[in-house]
Amino acid sequence: MASGSVRRALLVEDEQALRELMRFHLGLAGFQVIEESDGRRALERLRDTAFDLVLLDVMLPGLDGIGVCRALRSGGANTATPVVMVTALDGESDTVLGLESGADDYITKPFGVRELMARVAAVTRRHDRGHAAPADVSRLHVGDVALDRERRQATVRGAAIELTKQEFDLLFLLASRRGIVFSRASLLQQVWSDDTFVTERTVDAVISRLRRKVERDPHDPSLLLTAWGVGYKCADGSD
Ligand code: CA
Repeated sequence: MASGSVRRALLVEDEQALRELMRFHLGLAGFQVIEESDGRRALERLRDTAFDLVLLDVMLPGLDGIGVCRALRSGGANTATPVVMVTALDGESDTVLGLESGADDYITKPFGVRELMARVAAVTRRHDRGHAAPADVSRLHVGDVALDRERRQATVRGAAIELTKQEFDLLFLLASRRGIVFSRASLLQQVWSDDTFVTERTVDAVISRLRRKVERDPHDPSLLLTAWGVGYKCADGSD
């Protein structure tokens, strides 16, 4: 994003009063705001127009926010745009579902304007620093670890290490979405997609092997973190 250019936000929310309040505060923060109240129309707009921020209500007419987010991440002009999901549901599984759809953060209704704008500032700052890796990135650097997906090479503190296919794919997936929690079921589906003979314990076993290979102290990991009761995430630097 060029300095001095106007930042564009897409605000997708079907509650008019809330949408107007959000639009007002995004405007104060310097965003040019485009509004949609329907999931399908929002997705059409997202296919062609690149935004600097998307605020996405979960419960929408047409197509829900999770469907919109998955679709925008899968191709088009906004595969790497920061997305904040707005949800009325505060359940843990709903939270994980929102983040696994490719959202960068979420906020639960009812929320205060200051909380909303703090989330917006955080995701756009993280994005500007380049932490929101686009889906087609092939090289990653996290902590002491460097990964090259095309060559399938991994180095830790400058020294090459041997990883199995599953170890590499799991590490790359977590490292490409730093700070985002993945459930064991989701990791199984994405890393072991066609293998029916694995269980969620397989994920735990591969994580512990990876920790022995990449962490300074495998018993006190600083990179591959456990999200208790949910799954795993790669530290995003603020943990
Ligand atoms: Ca709604």
